Amino acid sequence: MTPPSSGCYSRLVVAGTVTQHKLVLLLSRQEIGEVVRRLAAEIDRDYAGRELLLVVILRGAFVFAADLVREMRTPVRVDFVRISSYPTGTVTTGGPRVVTGVRREEVRGRDVLLVEDILDTGLSVDRLLKYLRRMGPASLRVCALLDKPSRRRVDVPLHYRGTTVPDRFLVGYGLDMDQRCRNLSDIYWVQES
Ligand code: 5GP
Ligand code: MG
Repeated sequence: MTPPSSGCYSRLVVAGTVTQHKLVLLLSRQEIGEVVRRLAAEIDRDYAGRELLLVVILRGAFVFAADLVREMRTPVRVDFVRISSYPTGTVTTGGPRVVTGVRREEVRGRDVLLVEDILDTGLSVDRLLKYLRRMGPASLRVCALLDKPSRRRVDVPLHYRGTTVPDRFLVGYGLDMDQRCRNLSDIYWVQES
């Protein structure tokens, strides 16, 4: 597979050290498109005749969400949340924190779907479900494009699962490596060399 030509560099400065990375294709844009269309169809079937509030987790899920809403027929509102991430081993209190939230009035009484790029340990989604539940939604479900079940630390519901992926570091289609590579149209795993 041809490596991506623009926007993401195989030579990256990570923590001050220049390292070489090889990007290996995991999911092509065509495969991603099929998964997104299937998820949209499942969501449309389940929410027929209703209006949905999509709460998208920044930043990674913005590309997925943009494609998902355009494949859906269900009327949607869209809002965004952002949570702080702590590097592994430095979590001191309570895990991830909501740093950009949504308004209670937006959520109360609505059918809410939390949209995530990749479900890894589950800590972020767990935190956000608790946060949103307190606002009194009519219903609350989770959709994730990718699922890395081998890394799960907390049990979280996943109502709409795109596809399961191996325990590898992935980039592209919204997923970053040091804020780069989000603009790649396909999903790659990063091989260090
Ligand atoms: P969790 O709280 O489930 O461990 O964290 C999920 C978040 O970690 C995702 O929203 C994503 O931002 C990030 N993440 C998990 N796995 C990967 C990966 O393979 N690549 C990238 N770029 N981010 C990941
Ligand atoms: Mg994320």
